[in-house]
Amino acid sequence: MRTFSLQLALLVRSVATPIVQLLAPPRCGICECEGALLCAACRAEWLPDRAVALPVGNLSASAALGPYEGGLGAAIRTMKYGGVQGLARELGVALLPAITQATQRAPYQVTLVPIPTDPDRVHARGFDHAALLARAAGEAARLSVRSLLTRVRATDPLHGASRSARAEIMHGAMQCADEVDPPSAVVLIDDIQTSGATAREAARALRVAGVRWIAVVSVAYER
Ligand SMILES: [Zn+2]
Repeated sequence: MRTFSLQLALLVRSVATPIVQLLAPPRCGICECEGALLCAACRAEWLPDRAVALPVGNLSASAALGPYEGGLGAAIRTMKYGGVQGLARELGVALLPAITQATQRAPYQVTLVPIPTDPDRVHARGFDHAALLARAAGEAARLSVRSLLTRVRATDPLHGASRSARAEIMHGAMQCADEVDPPSAVVLIDDIQTSGATAREAARALRVAGVRWIAVVSVAYER
């Protein structure tokens, strides 16, 4: 009986928690004040009108809203680890200045392509943050969005790995899912750029499929 009531309590809690979250007023993903997923003060402080141009490596352009610190870092962590999907939409729309910056010299019409997350991590979180960012960014920028890339094997987490180890972990990890009629120009979308190993692998797979101009845009970059 005791076990049964414990199970019942757990069941009630598992059902009730999402409902409570649904009914609770939204909280700012940065300062946690009530009212909106990103409050006006945090937007003004952390979501810039102008993006930062980043070193491009072997890509054509690279831009982000700012470093993975302070409010931008908090918003990304709340989205990913706090499971706040609505924040992906807010941050995706906020990518507009970075997309404008990165596509200034694009020679062709651009398509946004999310960098695919490791399927195990998507499964654990229940959503693919890069796909949600890209969808919202595409609506805001009026650009088409295609999920062209897939992960062909699991990869160890890059966090803590050296630059050369990251390149090795990522090499050959992605492929272009649909090589029929590839776009000429792609802007890859992700939450954070670190060493660039993930974007380089995504670009490699896209080039194999025939994409000619590739840039990357992210919410934040790691210094
Ligand atoms: Zn706030």
